[in-house]
Amino acid sequence: MKKRLVVIGNGMAGMRTVEELLSAAPNKYDITVFGAEPYGNYNRIMLSSVLCGEKTIEDIVINNRQWYIDNGITLYAGEDKTAVRIDRKNKKVYAQDGTFAGYDRLLIATGSKAVAPTIPGNGLEGVISFRDIVDVNKMLAYSRSHNKAVVLGGGLLGLEAANGLVSRGMDVTVVHSNEILLNRQMDRAAAKMLQTELEQRGLKFKMAAKLKQLSGDEQGHVTTVSFEDGSRLECDLFVAAIGVRPNIELAHEAGIYCERGIVVNDTLQSYDPSIYAVGECIQHRGATFGLVAPLFEQAKVCANHLSAHGAAEYITLPTATKLKVTGINLFSIGDFQGDVNSESVHFTDPALGIYKKLVIKANKLIGAVLYGDTADGGWYQELLEKEDTITGIRDVLIFGKVYATSA
Ligand SMILES: Cc1cc2nc3c(=O)[nH]c(=O)nc-3n(C[C@H](O)[C@H](O)[C@H](O)COP(=O)(O)OP(=O)(O)OC[C@H]3O[C@@H](n4cnc5c(N)ncnc54)[C@H](O)[C@@H]3O)c2cc1C
Repeated sequence: MKKRLVVIGNGMAGMRTVEELLSAAPNKYDITVFGAEPYGNYNRIMLSSVLCGEKTIEDIVINNRQWYIDNGITLYAGEDKTAVRIDRKNKKVYAQDGTFAGYDRLLIATGSKAVAPTIPGNGLEGVISFRDIVDVNKMLAYSRSHNKAVVLGGGLLGLEAANGLVSRGMDVTVVHSNEILLNRQMDRAAAKMLQTELEQRGLKFKMAAKLKQLSGDEQGHVTTVSFEDGSRLECDLFVAAIGVRPNIELAHEAGIYCERGIVVNDTLQSYDPSIYAVGECIQHRGATFGLVAPLFEQAKVCANHLSAHGAAEYITLPTATKLKVTGINLFSIGDFQGDVNSESVHFTDPALGIYKKLVIKANKLIGAVLYGDTADGGWYQELLEKEDTITGIRDVLIFGKVYATSA
């Protein structure tokens, strides 16, 4: 008899776990998936490429509905199939329209929700986030009929949204609370080079900005963004990209132990041994997640346990970040700021638009920022993950792998 696996969340982490499971133990489970989005599953990170016109929605589909049929998976997808209750006592999951499925093992992969700005006017028409296909379609529709966009948040997502809207012909201002763009990934010098490059491409910036409120017209549509310093910006479309929060309400209501996320152990098991969780909805050893690389690792480990091969343990490794804006090369990993006990090595070539910073502590590389030339990012990441000593190559480390290994 096959066991029953129910998956809540048809996104990147949940479906990667199912793919891993199908390859590790193809006949172990009857699988049922509840997904709130009305499709198979798609590569969410490529939504930025759809927005700027480099890809279409069809290009970014990972598994279409036929894939589920071919693999014997029951897919309940659409808003009315959103899972609204987990009955842990009777091991059943209920969807909004009453559809239900019983489970022996449950996998929760409900992802995150975009954080909304807590300012007056945040409920006006034209105020949106950047998370799914619906958001992208809204942005594309606005770009055809309106001109002024304001993007709140100068992080990776905000810059990709702004770049996409500019390439669709909108007049876009990025509003950032910090003086430094991508301040979680970049230092001041690299961020300045990035800002200059983006300005040359038509993006506008309002840095170190304190938002006051959004105002609208009589139809309840956003028209103006006001700031604490008294300034204002005209606005037809306001995109908030100020972070995400683990989507844990369903788990929490079912009495599964949650803090900021659903708390899981190194095998991705929640406090209920029948229930596993992966992706942006979890909290592992205090950390929550916002990039796919760790989620794919979680998927592998979780599938290993669901398939009862059960030996793998999940460890969080530093994740490198890149900006998906064509022609801009940027790489950041680890502790790129350093502290009083670390030292940093810099290389700058303003004419070529190249900047490199390596942070070293106790003869090990602990962080790196590269702008312009990111060819050695992978090598630095390797040194950092393996915690290799750099004694012997320290003087040439900044020049990259080829030079360092030949020297
Ligand atoms: C525009 C954009 C660009 C990005 N670019 C990058 C990048 O370049 N690099 C990178 O590493 N990461 C990037 N990310 C982040 C990456 O997409 C996420 O880390 C990843 O998608 C998280 O996977 P997940 O499965 O946890 O959540 P999701 O992919 O969000 O999947 C969760 C799914 O669960 C569904 N769901 C939620 N609640 C329920 C419920 N109750 N019932 C049924 N279904 C439910 C949701 O509708 C969603 O489909 C980007 C994200 C966005 C939005």
